[in-house]
Amino acid sequence: MQKYRIFSLFFIHVLILVHVAGFGQEYIGSVDFQEFFHSFLKIGKINAGVILVFFALLSTLIFGRFFCGWACHFGAIQELSWFILQKLNITPKTINSRLVFILPIFILLHFYLIPNLDHAFNNPWVFSIELNKPNIWAFLPGLIIGLLTFFIDGFLIVYFLGRKGFCRFICPWGAFLKLPSALAIYKVRNTGGCINSGNCTRNCPIGIDVNYEINSYNKVVNTNCTNCMICTEGCPTSALKFSYENPLNERYNLIDFFNGENIYKSQNTKQLFTNLRSKDILFFIFTLVIGFSIDGLFSMGHFLSFGIAIITSYNILKEYRKNIFKLVLSLFVILILVWSLSIKYSIHNGVDSYLNANYTESIKYLKFVTDYYPNKIGRYYIYLSDSYYETGMINQAKFYAEIANSINPNHESVHQLFNKIYNNTE
Ligand code: SF4
Ligand code: SF4
Repeated sequence: MQKYRIFSLFFIHVLILVHVAGFGQEYIGSVDFQEFFHSFLKIGKINAGVILVFFALLSTLIFGRFFCGWACHFGAIQELSWFILQKLNITPKTINSRLVFILPIFILLHFYLIPNLDHAFNNPWVFSIELNKPNIWAFLPGLIIGLLTFFIDGFLIVYFLGRKGFCRFICPWGAFLKLPSALAIYKVRNTGGCINSGNCTRNCPIGIDVNYEINSYNKVVNTNCTNCMICTEGCPTSALKFSYENPLNERYNLIDFFNGENIYKSQNTKQLFTNLRSKDILFFIFTLVIGFSIDGLFSMGHFLSFGIAIITSYNILKEYRKNIFKLVLSLFVILILVWSLSIKYSIHNGVDSYLNANYTESIKYLKFVTDYYPNKIGRYYIYLSDSYYETGMINQAKFYAEIANSINPNHESVHQLFNKIYNNTE
């Protein structure tokens, strides 16, 4: 069965290439999970990404999270990373932490569900169907940030947090499929005859204590299960089967990994995991502080910023690291945090002051941003130039207008700025 799964993951990438190279965006636009939130929930638009999410929701309600295990390109990259690490004789331990439940749900609610629902409540939907909009690159980052995202969330996260570290700790789409996964009528179920070999827990790529769950609940209840079928194939007594249960007879039990007093405690399995549960609160706080402080800087998306955040937090909290390593890492992180928070604070105050015509303040903050933020954003230079113009400092206004022009030569706002400065002063 695994060769079919690998073929499926490979085939998805062929489809992505065909989409990008062949169809362009003429017929099918962005096929991204984000579309469900940005397009459907927010404004009532149906496009290719929204149809994909409806398909994923429906299929999850019946078969569980097959989409994650058999079709997701992020899952595929982590599988490849795991394969390479195994070839190098490196077997990262999986982390036992409640953040696998909390963090993806937090990211889903904070960045995708709540802001878009809030918009929908305050602005009535205009229902529309546009399969070719937005274009396929609409929400994708540039090449460098894109490659960095794949490297951090596809490779580095597997090395530090174990197989499928991104799926477990970050992925908001996985969090979105948790509820339908809990209600799925097909699940991995206990058929009897378990001899507690621990193979299923040992081999589960998503870090589920299958041995514990099937003996406690008669099925895998963990909503992170991606239905890879590695556990059913590796059971020496064929005690596991992916099977149907009449939903009316099913005992629905939404407690999963989050609870389970004895989870990961059997002698067979506990050495497979690094237990961070006693530090979960600190782990969560560190991850949020680091994630929020770098999120959006250098056009970093949520996946990348929180991927970096959780790897860094883990390394600060991990026990076996030498103290000197921790100290250097912590100092480095503090420096980055201070720098990135000052940039974000200055951007916020600078833009806010400019929009409220408080030009003395906007100059103070935007000057700091343009001096110390290596990522040159034309908008900040335009605002700074205009602030100088409004306070009568024409030479500075011209200086920053020229920089804005070198960043976005054909932008309408730059033309307006030039007209304003030069037509009124020459
Ligand atoms: S519980 Fe079984 S089917 Fe689910 S992810 Fe783990 S190994 Fe795969
Ligand atoms: S692999 Fe099979 S026998 Fe071994 S613990 Fe899991 S269910 Fe039991």
